[in-house]
Amino acid sequence: MKEYAVGIDVGGTKIAAGIINRDGEVTSCFKTRAHSEKEPLFVIDAIENAYFALIDDCGIDPVDIEGVCIGFAGTVNGPEGLVLISSNLPAWHKIPLRDTVANRIGRPVILENDTNLCALGEYHYGAGRGSKNMCYATYSTGFGLGIIIDGQLYVGATGTAGEIAHIVVDVGGPPCTCGKKGCLMAYASGVGLSRMAYEHIDAGEDTLLAQYATPDKKRIHGSCILEAAKQGDPIANEIIETSGYYFGVGLSIIAQIVNPELIVYGGGLTRLGDLAFEPARRGLRESIQPQLLDSFELKPWQLGDEAGVIGAGAMVFNKLG
Ligand SMILES: [Zn+2]
Repeated sequence: MKEYAVGIDVGGTKIAAGIINRDGEVTSCFKTRAHSEKEPLFVIDAIENAYFALIDDCGIDPVDIEGVCIGFAGTVNGPEGLVLISSNLPAWHKIPLRDTVANRIGRPVILENDTNLCALGEYHYGAGRGSKNMCYATYSTGFGLGIIIDGQLYVGATGTAGEIAHIVVDVGGPPCTCGKKGCLMAYASGVGLSRMAYEHIDAGEDTLLAQYATPDKKRIHGSCILEAAKQGDPIANEIIETSGYYFGVGLSIIAQIVNPELIVYGGGLTRLGDLAFEPARRGLRESIQPQLLDSFELKPWQLGDEAGVIGAGAMVFNKLG
């Protein structure tokens, strides 16, 4: 049994690679934004470079490393090692990421959806310790869900369980990045916030958000929307409230379907604080069967931005020993 694992978290704009020990501590980390929103070959190069930069710097003999796990922000078939699609990295379609990276770095690799790994990380080392049936909901660029049942990550028949973002909650509603209309993602996510911001800007409404708009509708970041809200911009406040409300609707769906004892929530948009979470609690209350409202505990993440890398390490220890 080896002491260390490598976890690599691949998001739309950054890659974080870390060495994790069996206590769930990140002992070294390497981060890069070199690949941002590029096509697969650039991203695969960046993953390879991040891995070797990490190994060169960490001072740990590679023979003491149990294995490598990649967390990817997209719809992933982990057992087949495929990235099926990613709304953050549009050029990705059925890419055999696991085996391609394994060949490049000369080590076996595990591939899993990033939110699933955050769930595993929080379950083993964070807010989910001691629970048995737990869900992890991420409120960030997208809206992700990781499901732990009886202490095991549940990934479903083709590895895509928990793709909550694309559940339709507003039939005939606004367009989503997936091609459908009225998905949770169109509201309860960074992508959804930006979409709503443009809806108001394009209607010619007076809002501080207009300063961030570009002709090609480049995403307006959640932090800009929060800043405008804090300056008293009514449109910014309204869209954060709508987004938060739908996040609460999403939490009710999780509780109704999975019946976990605990839902841990995390992700960059947790920084919206009560502006989003007061309406989220309302959205949850108004959408759940009243009898289920007290059936679970709701807790914020403990591992923060390291959840993905730590969860990838936990996956290696779980799968490889
Ligand atoms: Zn969708």
